[in-house]
Amino acid sequence: MSKVLVIGAGGVGSVAVHKMAQLPEVFSSITLASRRESSCQKVAKSVEERFGVKVETAEVDADFVEQTTRLIERVKPDLLVNLALPYQDLTLMDACLETGTPYLDTANYEPKDEAKFEYRWQWEYQERFEKAGLMALLGSGFDPGVTNVFTAWLRKHHFDRIDTLDILDCNGGDHGHPFATNFNPEINIREVTAPARHWEDGNWVETPALSYNHTFDFPQVGERNMYLMYHEELESLVKHFPEIQRARFWMTFGDAYLKHLEVLQNVGLTSIEPVMYQGHEIIPLQFLKAVLPDPGGLGERTKGKTCIGNIVTGEKSGQSVTKYLFNVCDHEECFREVGSQAVSYTTGVPAMIGAALVVQGIWQGRGVFNMEQMDPDPFMDMLNHHGLPWEVRDLDQAPQF
Ligand code: NDP
Repeated sequence: MSKVLVIGAGGVGSVAVHKMAQLPEVFSSITLASRRESSCQKVAKSVEERFGVKVETAEVDADFVEQTTRLIERVKPDLLVNLALPYQDLTLMDACLETGTPYLDTANYEPKDEAKFEYRWQWEYQERFEKAGLMALLGSGFDPGVTNVFTAWLRKHHFDRIDTLDILDCNGGDHGHPFATNFNPEINIREVTAPARHWEDGNWVETPALSYNHTFDFPQVGERNMYLMYHEELESLVKHFPEIQRARFWMTFGDAYLKHLEVLQNVGLTSIEPVMYQGHEIIPLQFLKAVLPDPGGLGERTKGKTCIGNIVTGEKSGQSVTKYLFNVCDHEECFREVGSQAVSYTTGVPAMIGAALVVQGIWQGRGVFNMEQMDPDPFMDMLNHHGLPWEVRDLDQAPQF
């Protein structure tokens, strides 16, 4: 029986709280806080209507350590679950250290003024969390999150050595808008327009954004074009599995999405450099976010499936092995269960699972941890029972891309 404080009432926060409410034997008390309390009240109302569980709400600006500290002291949670934006990671970690509270998030820190995400800033908290005897669990979403656990589970049960890792993220859903992002547009566009980077023979290899693609036949979705990208879990996975010779991340994009993105980039609307407009300083990408469809509202119109998984090659008992481990998730089924589309669902469910394992002490540690450092088995088991069942297949050959 434990108390949890969730910060951030967007798409992901909403799913996580809906899932926590379905596990009252683990989460006996849930408080949801966000910059606007109205966002939390909407979620709380839906949770109460669907599951008859009461969620407390609060307002907090998590950019300010003092505000969060005061809230934590009032709520006294056993865990703080950060589902706000990557910009708030460090201030929330500071508030956790100040109040002696374990921490969990789904995305690594990114400074507002520099589109560069890396774990360095959060790994630097290692000593402080260790000394305080507290656990900080980083990246408990799908990717990062489930993809890290998939890698650890494959290594534990099916490989003596991993040689290559390809993470394939396909959203085969259709929301009917000419252009929309399926999670926070600002974060999404910053990620997609960054140069691609993959790990090869001990080095990062950088290539221009969206310059290398390949067609892949995704289970239950079909053929889609996927593009080589950089994604944050690559950084921690090659650190914790130094045997990996090549690690890559691929994401599917439709032609219409890429066409719009190219135009938006060419006219300067994806820039994070401030510009003056009628006497006000505005950030073009933040303005763009304000005029794009709200990802939270895409749920009721999105049809189709997501398919995210890992293809791993390596060796087991002297034999070459290639395995494909993946989850398929249906947008409409997610919407029926919790009122959100599959992209929020596939992130919010693992956030709930990570939180459940931490508050029950099944996953524990002192310091800052990435998901692959934990025992993958209880997490894999919970995925099967809480809406994200997975399947593992043997492939005849290593990926030909
Ligand atoms: P949304 O933009 O839908 O929601 C973010 C929420 O955070 C909003 O409710 C917003 O406030 C709140 N918020 C923003 N700034 C502050 C602040 N300073 N203080 C308090 N609350 C704040 O984003 P998503 O739900 O789509 O994404 C949430 C997180 O999940 C992001 O970090 C994203 O990068 C990550 N993510 C991870 C994935 C993974 O697989 N690992 C995949 C997808 C997302 P309000 O509404 O109150 O104004």
